[in-house]
Amino acid sequence: MTDLWRLNAREISEKVRKREVSAVEVMRAHLSRIEKLEPRIDAFLHVNEHALSRARSIDSAVSRGSVDLPLAGVPAAIKDVLHVANMPTTCASKILRNYVPPFTATCVARLERAGAIILGKTNMDEFAMGSSTENSGYKPTRNPWSAAHVPGGSSGGSAAAVAAQMAPIALGTDTGGSIRQPAAFCGVVGIKPTYGRVSRYGLVAFASSLDQAGPFARTVQDAAVVLAAISGRDDHDATSVERRFPDAHAETDGDARGLRVGVPWEFLKRGVDAGVMTSFREALDQLQACGALLRDVSLPHLAHAVATYYIVATAEASSNLARYDGVRYGRRAEGATDLDQMYGETRDRGFGAEVKRRIILGTFVLSSGYYDAYYLRAQKVRALIRRDFEAAFESCDVIATPTTPSPAFKIGEKTDDPLKMYLEDVFTVPANLAGLPGLSIPCGLSAGLPVGLQLMSRWFDESMLLRAGHAFERLTEHHLRRPPL
Ligand code: GLN
Repeated sequence: MTDLWRLNAREISEKVRKREVSAVEVMRAHLSRIEKLEPRIDAFLHVNEHALSRARSIDSAVSRGSVDLPLAGVPAAIKDVLHVANMPTTCASKILRNYVPPFTATCVARLERAGAIILGKTNMDEFAMGSSTENSGYKPTRNPWSAAHVPGGSSGGSAAAVAAQMAPIALGTDTGGSIRQPAAFCGVVGIKPTYGRVSRYGLVAFASSLDQAGPFARTVQDAAVVLAAISGRDDHDATSVERRFPDAHAETDGDARGLRVGVPWEFLKRGVDAGVMTSFREALDQLQACGALLRDVSLPHLAHAVATYYIVATAEASSNLARYDGVRYGRRAEGATDLDQMYGETRDRGFGAEVKRRIILGTFVLSSGYYDAYYLRAQKVRALIRRDFEAAFESCDVIATPTTPSPAFKIGEKTDDPLKMYLEDVFTVPANLAGLPGLSIPCGLSAGLPVGLQLMSRWFDESMLLRAGHAFERLTEHHLRRPPL
């Protein structure tokens, strides 16, 4: 078999466990796929030079009879904001050039324990701040569907790698949409888990009350297997909880009969691209055709979600990013004559424009005299948004929206207007503010570019998302479309 890169994660692991193919062959296929396509896509910042030797050890574990490996031999791409010991973590920032962490993030370690093999580290917006991967301090990534378009962000490298079949699965992180939005733009599945479902240990903090790591895959079932592997309580992260994640295979078994789908129509009235709206309406029709019941739900405070998010996230970022001072990590500016000058020059040269903008904004909303007007008020609105969801989930099981108001935009199209870029996040930030799980699944094309359907469910009810998502996949062929590479 020469086209092993076409296989999805479940197929790979089954074949490796049955010894129909070796993990080494699978890895070789993906490495040569990367070699071929990477010059066009630029999804990776680092490729793991030990991937083949790790594949060899998976093969020998399997031949010794170790079968308890749900991801045996599955190559996995990791967003460069998650630590993998002895591999560089740059967060796509110049300030962390050549930084090598001494430990592995819990979610990555769990993926490896399940038999996955780390392919490499993927490109992103610097410190996960952005919606297009254009804020990378190293290079932009291109959308596999069209080289002129962005892959979305901030986990753009991970989404593009999975869409281009350079990796069957990847990890990303989602603070305000950074898994779901690039998944939508690249035509793959992405899940932002409930806050607390996945340990944040070894995930470089952007906004700690919002950050959550999660999977990219080409099918809902693959995403479920990854989610099951990485979930659960971790003593290194006090916000992580032990909520047993039910069996990934069983979770995707159900159908959509009787599923109550809430649609916040008032929130979708303005600013949604016509092609996105058409795909969204068709997706709702398809869900209905297989037994789902549509409901109109009201989420009145979502109108303030973007403003609230950009206060809370920047406030937390300004505090989290204070640690990059040239003393403890990464790069230090040369030639300074005193400590203040060294701090200043390190940060001035090390951080890109968007990161500086966020630190300044965050410092402002937290400063005395403005704290009550901005940060405190944003926290109150955040509570109201959460309450809106609580009320809405009284009458539905999942809430559906398009993942993004428009399909992928052109490289350079929004870089001069940060506000336009921020408005990209209108449908994704509410789930982060409320801590809810969200899924993005391909639901069509608009002018040749993928469109994502977003489903959100109650806290810790990822099972509902997986069930609905898988039922949708069984009815439709959107997830089988591949970019013309
Ligand atoms: N686009 C949003 C931002 O720029 C979300 C980023 C993220 O989820 N990491 O903050």
